[in-house]
Amino acid sequence: MKNAVIIGAGPAGITAAIYLIRAGIPTTVIYKDMGALGKTQAIDNYYGFPETISGPELFERGLAQARRLGVEIIQDEVVGISWEDKMTVLTKTARYPGDVILFATGAARIAPKIEGLKTLEGRGVSYCAVCDAFFYKNRDVAVIGNGEYALHEAEVLSNTSKTVTIYTLGKAPAFELPPRSEIVIDTRKIIRLHGEEALESLELDDGTIVPMDGLFVAVGVAGSADFAKKVGAEVDGARIQIDENCRTTLDGLYAIGDCSGGLLQIAKAVHDGAKAAVHAIKYLQNT
Ligand SMILES: Cc1cc2nc3c(=O)[nH]c(=O)nc-3n(C[C@H](O)[C@H](O)[C@H](O)COP(=O)(O)OP(=O)(O)OC[C@H]3O[C@@H](n4cnc5c(N)ncnc54)[C@H](O)[C@@H]3O)c2cc1C
Repeated sequence: MKNAVIIGAGPAGITAAIYLIRAGIPTTVIYKDMGALGKTQAIDNYYGFPETISGPELFERGLAQARRLGVEIIQDEVVGISWEDKMTVLTKTARYPGDVILFATGAARIAPKIEGLKTLEGRGVSYCAVCDAFFYKNRDVAVIGNGEYALHEAEVLSNTSKTVTIYTLGKAPAFELPPRSEIVIDTRKIIRLHGEEALESLELDDGTIVPMDGLFVAVGVAGSADFAKKVGAEVDGARIQIDENCRTTLDGLYAIGDCSGGLLQIAKAVHDGAKAAVHAIKYLQNT
């Protein structure tokens, strides 16, 4: 019987698994951890949770729903993909051949080593401007990063925040500010964050202390492009090339959710998961 293997148990991977299993396709989900939901304290903008829901609780609910429907869930780290008689997902200890494989590995949100960054996550330190800009209305915010992703986050914040500064951490900016932009660029390194209950200030490498209400980490968006390259799917920089059904350039291989770029939100991840699964079901029925 033809089967599906999904890497990642976030909203994208679990939604795809739910559609596939309910279509009668044996489905395995392999995941390492909670992904982005593990870093999310309160989700305020996803349908159906009037009291909000925490990321970890949403994650556990998704996992439980998939298990109830019969999805095989395995906690392990995927280290590669290979071509055997069919595409095969490799962990350190096992191999999982799949007639269709879905990458749902999320965006690798790279966090630079800055003292205090981890401890202030969710209390002034954020990884998602579109999620959290609302909390920093008319306040001073900073973005860390030197690429287009950092500029994108800064532009989202500049609609509501009082000031927005992009700290490129010693690197040259790899973007151009649009004309008349009020976003400030500072190339100095941030070495430490100060604040007890919440972020209060940034300490720069020349000793300057800058009062700050919010700090958004936007250091590159890597994804499952490394896996894709291993099996010969086309990538465009760090991003896998996909079509409107989240299909990569290889038949039977899909990339969904944050790892395929675009809006990094749960609603989009769920949409991708459903769309790719519906396509994969037809693909399996016709091959
Ligand atoms: C701090 C923060 C706050 C946010 N707030 C909101 C919000 O309020 N509203 C909203 O809509 N969105 C929010 N988001 C974004 C949202 O969490 C993501 O868009 C969503 O979780 C993406 O789902 P996904 O399934 O694509 O990836 P993820 O949820 O990141 O899941 C990725 C999965 O892939 C697995 N994985 C990755 N690599 C491997 C590997 N090598 N081997 C095995 N497994 C692997 C991970 O373990 C994980 O299970 C927030 C994100 C962050 C970081």
